[in-house]
Amino acid sequence: MSITSTAALHRQPTLQVDPIACEGHGVCAELFGEWIRLDDWGYPVIRKDAVPEDLLPHARWAVSNCPALALSLRKP
Ligand code: SF4
Repeated sequence: MSITSTAALHRQPTLQVDPIACEGHGVCAELFGEWIRLDDWGYPVIRKDAVPEDLLPHARWAVSNCPALALSLRKP
């Protein structure tokens, strides 16, 4: 990865889950399986690195479809 693309990635948002609000519906993992998997209890395990530009539409789709409003994209 070049220095330029690394720098660009650092400005990309990360996906966060509010563990208090999350109800374990699992919709997020279906919609954004590239970044989210479910643990044995059905709660999301989310990659901590920045979401690349080309996957942001998937991330936004998962955020907007979380029934508990527990997912968010946060800029560093
Ligand atoms: S869709 Fe929302 S409530 Fe359901 S597991 Fe994902 S973050 Fe939690």
